[in-house]
Amino acid sequence: MPKTLQIKNLQVSVVNQQTDERTTILKGVSLTVKPGEVHAIMGPNGSGKSTLAYTLAGHPFYEVTGGQISLDGQDILEKSPDERAAQGLFLAFQYPVEVPGVKVQNFLRLAYNARFADHPEKLFPSVLAFRKHLESLAKELKVNPELLKRGLNEGFSGGEKKRVEILQMAVLEPKYAILDETDSGLDVDAMKAVSLGVKKIIEKYNTGVVVITHYQRILKYLQPEFVHVMKAGKIVQSGGRDLAEKMEAEGYEKV
Ligand code: ADP
Ligand code: MG
Repeated sequence: MPKTLQIKNLQVSVVNQQTDERTTILKGVSLTVKPGEVHAIMGPNGSGKSTLAYTLAGHPFYEVTGGQISLDGQDILEKSPDERAAQGLFLAFQYPVEVPGVKVQNFLRLAYNARFADHPEKLFPSVLAFRKHLESLAKELKVNPELLKRGLNEGFSGGEKKRVEILQMAVLEPKYAILDETDSGLDVDAMKAVSLGVKKIIEKYNTGVVVITHYQRILKYLQPEFVHVMKAGKIVQSGGRDLAEKMEAEGYEKV
């Protein structure tokens, strides 16, 4: 079985709820991510980057009108978001949701149990055993353990939200992860902590990662081997890390 996250000629539309009008957003996107690889996707606002992330997650709003997505050889287009997560796909969204009243540690335990439902050998014998595991991961990723006892994202600062999201990523041991503007709105220290955390996870679980970003600075830490530029629903250029520098210096217009 090929070990890749493979996106082939993906076409995605959204339907406007008011007017019933259909707009095509992704117009044939292809991307192949292997375990341990880091890919960056850059591109102007509105080019379809988040649409790609949501479609990979299986968000029902986005209608796939053509193309394929497969994970380690298995077609995932017909699978629910939970089934995709259980296959090892992880998505960190641009705007993390608040779930007041649900403690981070409980949320993460349920997410872990769902992720590994088909792997009984991975399940922890008790709530306490999971908590120990979680606390050691938090320590490793320099996440304040006090946050684990608070409601998910409830009153969290931008930096705290992203750190907890990276902790969630570590908990889920993803095969593939898509990080949608995880660096936006972070101060330098938080950005560094988040990128070093992602790096650790890649090393530990050989995760294949797609980072969606506007900025060079996160790429300095993550060192993607592949950089893609998305424009108007298509990947219009791919290259190495120098392409990211060029984009930041020259802007997207010339591409
Ligand atoms: P990016 O993340 O690259 O900034 P998006 O994927 O968020 O771009 O958006 C791409 C285009 O799709 C935009 O023109 C946006 O308005 C449109 N779009 C995305 N989601 C929706 C939606 N839920 N309803 C209507 N239009 C949408
Ligand atoms: Mg976006």
